[in-house]
Amino acid sequence: MANFYKDTPQLAYHLRHPLMKRIVELKERNYQEAKEFDYAPQNFDDAIDSYEAVLDIVGDLCGNQLAPNAQDIDKIGPTLKEGRAFYDPLTAKNLEAVTQAGLTGIALPRQYGGLNFPITPYIMAADMISRSDASFENLWGLQSCATILYEYGNDDQRQRFLPRVCQGETMSMDLTEPDAGSDLQSVMLKATYNKEEDAWYLDGVKRFITNGDSQIHLVLARTEEGTKDARGLSMFVFDAKNNPGLSVRRIENKMGIKGVPTCELVFTHAKAELCGQRRFGLIKYVMALMNDARLGIMSQAVGISEAAYREAYNYAIERKQFGKTIDNFPAVYDMLAIMRAKTDATRVHLYETSRYVDVYRALDEVARHRKLTPEEREEQKHYSRLADAFTPLGKGISTEYANQNVYDCVQIHGGSGYMKDYPCERLYRDARITNIYEGTTQLQVVAAIRYATSGLYFDVVREYRKREVKSELNPLKEKMAILLEKAEAISKKLHDSENQDLLDFHARKLIEAVAHTVFSHLLLLAANEAPEHYLQSCKVYLRYALAEMAKIEAFVNLVGESELEDYRNTQTFPTVE
Ligand SMILES: Cc1cc2nc3c(=O)[nH]c(=O)nc-3n(C[C@H](O)[C@H](O)[C@H](O)COP(=O)(O)OP(=O)(O)OC[C@H]3O[C@@H](n4cnc5c(N)ncnc54)[C@H](O)[C@@H]3O)c2cc1C
Repeated sequence: MANFYKDTPQLAYHLRHPLMKRIVELKERNYQEAKEFDYAPQNFDDAIDSYEAVLDIVGDLCGNQLAPNAQDIDKIGPTLKEGRAFYDPLTAKNLEAVTQAGLTGIALPRQYGGLNFPITPYIMAADMISRSDASFENLWGLQSCATILYEYGNDDQRQRFLPRVCQGETMSMDLTEPDAGSDLQSVMLKATYNKEEDAWYLDGVKRFITNGDSQIHLVLARTEEGTKDARGLSMFVFDAKNNPGLSVRRIENKMGIKGVPTCELVFTHAKAELCGQRRFGLIKYVMALMNDARLGIMSQAVGISEAAYREAYNYAIERKQFGKTIDNFPAVYDMLAIMRAKTDATRVHLYETSRYVDVYRALDEVARHRKLTPEEREEQKHYSRLADAFTPLGKGISTEYANQNVYDCVQIHGGSGYMKDYPCERLYRDARITNIYEGTTQLQVVAAIRYATSGLYFDVVREYRKREVKSELNPLKEKMAILLEKAEAISKKLHDSENQDLLDFHARKLIEAVAHTVFSHLLLLAANEAPEHYLQSCKVYLRYALAEMAKIEAFVNLVGESELEDYRNTQTFPTVE
């Protein structure tokens, strides 16, 4: 029997990271709920045991149901009938299974039927689900919308909606419109207030909405007539199960993640409730929503990378050419090693980020119950800043790595990789969206760049470097000093140029340089604690990072202000009369 938790011991290693102690302590607030709920933990070990028990169930479901169903779901997918989207029967069965297993609303407080899971084990479940079927992760992962409802909705909304999510109702986040994609300030879906009824009504179109026929929608809409920017936008909760006014006009015919419907939605006088304060829709709530969703996409990228590596490895050790299995050819084992290294690098970064999110979010929760001490406020600020910096870095780079890994996976399969008979063809298509939705890589770079030029990433790396590692790892650590030095020099050079165009032009390269530096150091720390899982990848990744850094440095030196012109207006097409 396959079990994706048991066969990936890296997950259990991250669950036992020293920072988990602080996270659980904050999350469980003296384990006071143990008196009220028999399934609430009594102490730290009990809490970790309970996360493990749930992750074991997820691992089992992934290995024995979700993954075996993935290829068939990919062939058929959802269907549209009379304005409604219907899941593939196997997707419906998967959803039923995760609901029955109590895996919906797991990060929500117990009083609503949740398990009060910290983000880290929740993301581990997402990592495994993505490995088994990336499209199902989109459906399951939308439960993170409920966390936003919990944080910003009112008490009445929490009481009415959150238990429904815990019982298996699904959610969607309706932000994108035909003219508002990366630039969500341009959202125009109209929200009109009816004074007599004291109610809001939504009218307009949303496009590319994952799971658009969900029961509970979070909708970004324009409440302030005449405005055109973010300050005119508010967030709404639309209860599609109990209100008319929404129809699915179209299910997109996509390249990948075919198991989940991506919908064009038409809202016609749809009665909705304001969630949180008016005019804070994009500025505050959607930003928080997207940060959660980006962490989810990071886990999706890591899960796809894990699947790609395993497919490639299993194929390579079986396929014989020239009298031996192809994993014996240096050209093939080079690809396998770098796939493993990129997967491990993005996984250590994913869980470092999720722990940062966990600490500040748990402190947010503590602050609902009592005043934080000045030290706690400092701690909250510190981790919130780290989470803000690490999330776009991880979303940007891990999704690019997932695409590189599926590319190599197909390559290792040769011609067979181009055929639909092998899962790698599906992985190749599924990975392609990860660096587009929840903000393209270019937009992640825009979000991350200020933490490079302000030096935050480099300060974090300096903190990592203060930690002692085993003597045999010191040569690796010394080489990593070169990464830090070079990445910082590139950042300084671009910052000192005082040329915004030049900085924007090289921003992606700079963020890649930062990622090489941060990922290498995180791998080093993981290799120090768990060499059996991370040492080989640490060595392989470091060489890759050093070589890539040299390329980045050379390119930044080659393209200065005066060379930028060669890149603008790359081609003018002749006019044909
Ligand atoms: C399968 C799928 C599922 C989706 N699910 C959802 C969902 O559930 N909810 C939802 O609301 N939306 C969803 N989306 C929408 C998705 O988030 C957007 O497609 C994405 O944010 C990009 O917007 P766009 O498609 O309009 O591209 P554009 O914004 O038009 O971007 C086109 C290109 O221009 C670049 N670009 C744009 N602005 C800048 C800039 N300032 N600097 C540098 N480059 C820039 C982009 O990086 C990209 O390369 C989904 C999309 C897909 C395809």
